[in-house]
Amino acid sequence: MDLGIRGKKAIVCAASKGLGKGCAQALAGEGVDLTICARGEEALNATAKELAATGANVTPVVCDVTTEAGRKALLAACPNPDILINNAGGPPPGDFKAFSLDDWRRAVEGNMITPIALIHSTIYGMIERGYGRIVNITSASIKQPIAALELSNGARLGLTGAVAVLARKASRSNVTINGILPGPFDTDRLRGTSQKMAEARNVPLSVIDAERKAAVPAGRFGTAEEFGKVVAFLCSAHAGYITGQNVLIDGGGYPGAL
Ligand code: NAP
Repeated sequence: MDLGIRGKKAIVCAASKGLGKGCAQALAGEGVDLTICARGEEALNATAKELAATGANVTPVVCDVTTEAGRKALLAACPNPDILINNAGGPPPGDFKAFSLDDWRRAVEGNMITPIALIHSTIYGMIERGYGRIVNITSASIKQPIAALELSNGARLGLTGAVAVLARKASRSNVTINGILPGPFDTDRLRGTSQKMAEARNVPLSVIDAERKAAVPAGRFGTAEEFGKVVAFLCSAHAGYITGQNVLIDGGGYPGAL
C-alpha cells in the first residue's frame, strides 16, 4: 500500500535508536523528508547516514528535546512539519516514597510538557495547511499502570488527557493526534532493564529474557521495525479518520493474565 505521504516533512524526536529510529526508518521508506534528533552525536549521525543511504532526505539535530533550547533547534531545522512523532527517554523507575518533587517535575517536563510544547508550535500550521499527523509515543501504562514506573505512569497520562480534546477539534482540518502505547519492545532500554534484573537476581540474562517473553501472549518482544510501520500508517493519508486514539501495541499483553 502506498501511504500517500511521499514528500511530506516529519520531525521524529529521540530517533537515533530504538522505537524512534524504527519510526524514522518506516517514514523514510515512504519517501518522507526527516528531521531527527537525539543527544548523542555519534549515534545520531550514524542513523542519519543509514537513513540517507536509502535515498531519504535527513537532517540530524543534536539536542536534548526536553529543553527549550533543544526544541528551538529542532523547529529551526523543520519549522513546518506535516508529521510530528513525539518521543524522549522515559523517567527512571523507583518508589513513590523516594521520589522528590524535582523527580516529578523532570518527568512531567520530559514526557508531558515537551510533547505539548512541540504540538503547540506545529499544529496550527498543520491546521492551516490541511494536513497533519501527530503521534505521541507513550506506554502501555496508559491502560494499566506499571508498578515500578510511577513517574512515567503519571506524566504520560497527563499528556494523554491534555491532547484528547485538541485531537478531536483538529480532525476537522485533517490533522490527527494519536498515542501509541508500546508493551515490551526489543530496544536498548528493554535490554538495559533486563540486564539489571539479571544482576539483581544473579541469573543469566537468558533466564530474564525467557521469563519476560513468556509473559507476553505473543511469546516474544516487539521489534522497532514493526512499531515504526504501525506509526507510519497512523501518519498516512489513509488515517485521517483515526484521531484521539490510544493504540496498544503489546503482543496482547493487556489486560493481563487470562
Ligand atoms: P532507547 O532504545 O533507549 O532509545 C531512546 C532514544 O531516545 C535514543 O535515540 C536516545 O538517544 C533518544 N533520547 C533519549 N532521551 C532524549 C532526549 N532527552 N532528547 C533527545 N533524544 C533523546 O529507548 P526506546 O525503547 O526506543 O524507548 C523510547 C520511549 O518509549 C521511551 O520513553 C520509553 O520509556 C518508551 N517505552 C519503551 C518501551 C520498550 O519496551 N522499549 C515500552 C514502553 C515505553 P540519546 O540517548 O543519545 O539522546
